[in-house]
Amino acid sequence: MSAADRAHVFHSWSAQDLITPLAVAGAEGSYFWDYEGNRYLDFTSGLVYTNIGYQHPKVVAAIQEQAATMTTFAPAFALEARSEAARLIAERTPGDLDKIFFTNGGAEAVENATRMARLHTGRPKVLSAYRSYHGATAAAINLTGDPRRWPSDNGSAGVVRFWAPFLYRSPFHSENEAQECERALQHLEDTIAFEGPATIAAIILETIPGTAGIMPPPPGYLAGVRELCDRYGIVLVLDEVMAGFGRTGKWFAVDHYEGVVPDLLTFAKGVNSGYVPLGGVAISGAIAETFAKRPYPGGLTYSGHPLACAAAVATINVMADEGVVEHAARMGEDVIGPGLRELAERHPSVGEVRGVGMFWALELVRDRETREPLVPYNPAGEANAPMAAFAAAAKAHGLWPFVNMNRTHVVPPCNISELDAKAGLAALDAALDAADAHV
Ligand code: PMP
Repeated sequence: MSAADRAHVFHSWSAQDLITPLAVAGAEGSYFWDYEGNRYLDFTSGLVYTNIGYQHPKVVAAIQEQAATMTTFAPAFALEARSEAARLIAERTPGDLDKIFFTNGGAEAVENATRMARLHTGRPKVLSAYRSYHGATAAAINLTGDPRRWPSDNGSAGVVRFWAPFLYRSPFHSENEAQECERALQHLEDTIAFEGPATIAAIILETIPGTAGIMPPPPGYLAGVRELCDRYGIVLVLDEVMAGFGRTGKWFAVDHYEGVVPDLLTFAKGVNSGYVPLGGVAISGAIAETFAKRPYPGGLTYSGHPLACAAAVATINVMADEGVVEHAARMGEDVIGPGLRELAERHPSVGEVRGVGMFWALELVRDRETREPLVPYNPAGEANAPMAAFAAAAKAHGLWPFVNMNRTHVVPPCNISELDAKAGLAALDAALDAADAHV
């Protein structure tokens, strides 16, 4: 099986000859295992999507039942699984985000949200943050600020990037959160003014940036962005592909920021724990109205696929019935957050601990004073050795870690048990010794 993988599977984001993908034999709950009998606690939730863990029996049963009755049907028809999924999602999104456009994943959601914003405003540009990830299709990769964009950047027609707040590595040299918030908002307003407000269709932000480092914005920032959008007639798109559906201990990350409601909200991943590919855009009343009498010029063959929607209905019901969102909040506050802060006290390689709910990052550094990252941006080969050593040590202790540049993200399933969370923290403790060796 591994031989066929090496011969025929072309893997994402990889130099094909330099990787040895682990052959996975099975998965359940917060764990997966290989054919050699090694079992791993999954602190990555796949790619931050198995919010209710692997193989939840109720979701598996719902997919089986849907497959037995109606495996597939084209998007133009009204289907029970699709309308029920849309209803359950719309009930949970904030404000009047009451219409749902379904896609097959996050990048397609971003593509369609920005297209809707351009059509709605008749303006060409979209503003996005440098420290961001929005997907790997043509428009989504250009909106992405993360260095993974570089090889694919087409010169970014129609995209203007700005700095969102991040106190630990403040682009504004701020000394505290209030200052960072104020300066970031001034910078954004200046960017809008010099680009020309009448040329800007949308501002897209991850409510809490994920891939780029899990950086909850300072209090007041998102409300300030909302205010700027209102003042200049700009559509606010909040990308909750990673942060949505319980990940942060609320249904949506924006629920942490009182009174803030975007015009469009993108989601994917946790909506059905990734059991079948699904994403979408939740659309405000005003933008829906734009397409009430004229057609929306976009669509996807598998939009609102019944298997994916049945999985979403079952997942959302499991999350509600089993109190998964509240569990994620409590575990973040009582176990993971305090546990990570305690590790930071003992391990000199930990520069900062950030996060909320089941959405945390440890920023690893060579030097706490200078904050020099443990590895450089976009590390390759030997340059990545310290993070590779950290990851290997974690795996040796039965933990599968999320590693991105100089960070490890702690993003286990939102329903992880307290016992497993503590076991994961103990494994991280051991693995951080390997990172400390490079301080
Ligand atoms: N937006 C955000 C915030 C994401 O985290 C991701 C995926 N990590 C995407 C968009 C792209 O989603 P997908 O990989 O499903 O296309």
